[in-house]
Amino acid sequence: MLLNRRQVLAGGTAAAVLPSHGWGSPASTGISLKLGDMQVQTLSDGHLTLPRSLLFAGLEPGAVAPILQAQNIGPGPIQPPINVTLMRHQGRVVLFDTGSGPAFQASAGRLKTSLDAAGLTPEEVSHVVFTHCHPDHLWGVLDDFDDPLFPNASYLVGQVEWDYWFNPDTASTISADRASMAVGARRRLAVLAERVSRFADGEEILPGVGAHATFGHTPGHMSFQLRAGGDSALIGGDAIGNSHVSFAEPSWPIGTDQDAVAAAQTRLRLLDMLAHEKIQLIGYHLPNGGLGRVERSDSRFRFISDGSI
Ligand SMILES: [Zn+2]
Repeated sequence: MLLNRRQVLAGGTAAAVLPSHGWGSPASTGISLKLGDMQVQTLSDGHLTLPRSLLFAGLEPGAVAPILQAQNIGPGPIQPPINVTLMRHQGRVVLFDTGSGPAFQASAGRLKTSLDAAGLTPEEVSHVVFTHCHPDHLWGVLDDFDDPLFPNASYLVGQVEWDYWFNPDTASTISADRASMAVGARRRLAVLAERVSRFADGEEILPGVGAHATFGHTPGHMSFQLRAGGDSALIGGDAIGNSHVSFAEPSWPIGTDQDAVAAAQTRLRLLDMLAHEKIQLIGYHLPNGGLGRVERSDSRFRFISDGSI
């Protein structure tokens, strides 16, 4: 997801007056899943508060309304959950993305509390893998003093994503409403620079973790296919970034995607693969802890949540 500065502030204000729900409560942990000897669970970082005008920018409100009504989504801002994936495998403790940290939205930034609830300290995290460098995925990597929150971790970022956000020219070439995100990303990547490994599409970045290019939401967005014991799941990041319209109408452009045309092509390809190969999906902003299956019917898809929350 991506917000400009004004929308971030608006979201933060709105979050203070909106009723909280389960994802907003501290220390909520999501689903868990076992793939062979790989233990996977999601940890809540809270939730985002997004104006509809951002998420559904360019879509006809009259076309969106019945899709939302069918899901009992009432009026007001959209509040997608934030699901950070934790994987424990062969002695490694791996986080996929790091949540929003203290400086983004009042309803987000709760990863450390959820990590505590899972019985882990930040010092125990051995690897941090990023899907992309938007604030709700990257900004939680630094603590209140701008030091790395996970002091013993190795950090992994896709090469294309790194090249884009670490480039000092990006802040002036990206659209104006995203410029502050570029500045924020580069500042954090600079702190991590000496500890970051970069990887490419198709690489096995850790045992049982394959990198899968899913460009569009950002120029170098990556997803990760977990494989162990004959089972498989895909950590999709924001390649399928909302449950509100993107399963029902996967080709519709989404306002939070930087390249909405490329993102829609990626989304259709992924949804088709997940439904056809019956691979479980863990979505960063999908409901009930983010784990589920994808089913296809004609040109539409459905997300069948496996979560218990
Ligand atoms: Zn996001």
